[in-house]
Amino acid sequence: IDQSLIRNFSIIAHIDHGKSTLADRLIEICGGLESREMKSQVLDSMDIEREKGITIKAQTVRLKYSSKNGKEYIFNLIDTPGHVDFGYEVSRSLAACEGALLVIDATQGIEAQTLTNVYKAIENNLQIITIFNKIDLPSADITRVKKQVEDIIGLPTDNTINISAKTGEGIIEVLEYIIKYLPPPIGDINSPLKALLVDSWYDKYLGVVVIIRVIDGNISPGMKIQMMATSANYTIENVGIFTPKKKSVAALYPGEIGYITCNIRQVSDCKIGDTITSVVNSCLFPLPGFKPSKPVVFCGLYPTDAGNFIHLKDSLEKLSLNDSSFTYESESSSALGFGFRCGFLGLLHLEIIQERLEQEFDLDLVTTAPSVIYKIKLRSGNIIEIHNPSDLPDQVKIESMEEPWIKATIFVPEEYIGDVLSLCTEKRGEQIDLSFIDSRVMVVYALPLNEIVYDFYDKLKSCSKGYASFDWEEYDYRKSELVNMTILINGESVDALSIIVHKSHAEKKGRAICLRLKNLIPRHMFVIPIQAAIGGKIIARETINAMRKNVLAKCYGGDVTRKRKLLEKQKAGKKRMRSIGKVDIPQNAFIAVLKTG
Ligand code: GDP
Ligand code: MG
Repeated sequence: IDQSLIRNFSIIAHIDHGKSTLADRLIEICGGLESREMKSQVLDSMDIEREKGITIKAQTVRLKYSSKNGKEYIFNLIDTPGHVDFGYEVSRSLAACEGALLVIDATQGIEAQTLTNVYKAIENNLQIITIFNKIDLPSADITRVKKQVEDIIGLPTDNTINISAKTGEGIIEVLEYIIKYLPPPIGDINSPLKALLVDSWYDKYLGVVVIIRVIDGNISPGMKIQMMATSANYTIENVGIFTPKKKSVAALYPGEIGYITCNIRQVSDCKIGDTITSVVNSCLFPLPGFKPSKPVVFCGLYPTDAGNFIHLKDSLEKLSLNDSSFTYESESSSALGFGFRCGFLGLLHLEIIQERLEQEFDLDLVTTAPSVIYKIKLRSGNIIEIHNPSDLPDQVKIESMEEPWIKATIFVPEEYIGDVLSLCTEKRGEQIDLSFIDSRVMVVYALPLNEIVYDFYDKLKSCSKGYASFDWEEYDYRKSELVNMTILINGESVDALSIIVHKSHAEKKGRAICLRLKNLIPRHMFVIPIQAAIGGKIIARETINAMRKNVLAKCYGGDVTRKRKLLEKQKAGKKRMRSIGKVDIPQNAFIAVLKTG
């Protein structure tokens, strides 16, 4: 294969700016699928992704394009995930490309993820083609968005393209630009095999499928290969490409992207970013590689019905076959029994996994308070890392504690900036940068991750009427005054409700949680005190009064809708309860309780 006829690229965009729709158009024109197979958003293959409208697993597709210049080209489109929690996977997908299509919604302009993604592309030395999408909409304003690209990103705009991914307008131009402006790969076929491990997942029929980008040499069935990071050796069984349908090929050559299978048991044996070489004729130096993406948010997952523990275990095993970015280990709670401590890339990742467990595996789950990883310096001199409040050593043993901070980039229309700034301040944020762009503001903040995991997304959205966009990356660890707050219900400490909070927020949070629980826990036949405590000291308290003999008595003959509502509420409440001591606590209390100021 002539490398000058290959182009490898990703599409990068802020969520909803039209990445998947553009990919669909490219696949449509480049004939990878029959029209009857062409359902929208073909790259978003998992159901849950389609439902949420986001792309989780990076996918690659090989396309054929006959150019106006008479030559036939091979395009490898590497999809990148679209959500903030998966920023890491964007970088790794970009490492397999020479170029990127930067898609910007011309009715919206630059948003937080536009910026963070384009910086990742620039860091990877990619050539960038800027594309303004949605020009079919009357509110599209190319002049304005062009100026943003020049002023904010600093990219030249003399070769931008205006398209409508929806109507197809401008798509041929995109294809021609890819040929004209993106560089072809320049590998050496005579060198030893050197390939980048881009991605891997578990397939029911094939076992672990590994996506690779060949840099030098070639790879074909029967070859003995080595993963350089793990030194593990395998014999290649199958080599192929996605068109997007899977198709076997005889070999993959420099510049090509495709998959291999070689009887690998676990996805965790495939380190993303690892270099694959030949055992017989190995390359001298591996590729630079990446830091592995690692979970930053942890929580406990428990079956609502304790009898479902094994089912939960099996389900987590199955899910982790395909998603090596979340971790799980068994734990037990005196309140909730046996469950798992799970680690995620962010809060949305947590929600996705939880939803998949509930939908695909038909599980009812209790989720405990999300926690970040704290570094604790002990008086003994040792440093330990914990992500479960119940692992926190005795206060007297602790010299100091550190918590992780993130760097958040937020774009918001000017009229909401006041509220966004007070939100960031309330969350202990420190401003790094603030600049005005048209009628919008870009703010960069350092924020403690601990404050983000509870309700930051929700609050940001609501204080900006949904207009704020947000992206984040890990930043640093900072010393902090943190305390472990326990919640007592009816005098019993409920371990699953403990959280680590900043000292200055403890009292307010304690009060808010007690109030929230008071509203979530139904009345019982007896009085239930709800208390928040730090060490032995009670800092907040609420009381749930005992139930009257007949809840409905006072509605009798009166307001019918109110009566029906009460009954419905009781019914819904009964469905998902956890008893702790003598008290029934609704399942949603465990997470809802944290969504408090
Ligand atoms: P992604 O999140 O970047 O993958 O964005 P999608 O491709 O899912 O598009 C987000 C929404 O914008 C969908 O409702 C699309 O139908 C719509 N959309 C995408 N491109 C266009 C376009 O050119 N014109 C219009 N009017 N809508 C578009
Ligand atoms: Mg998409």
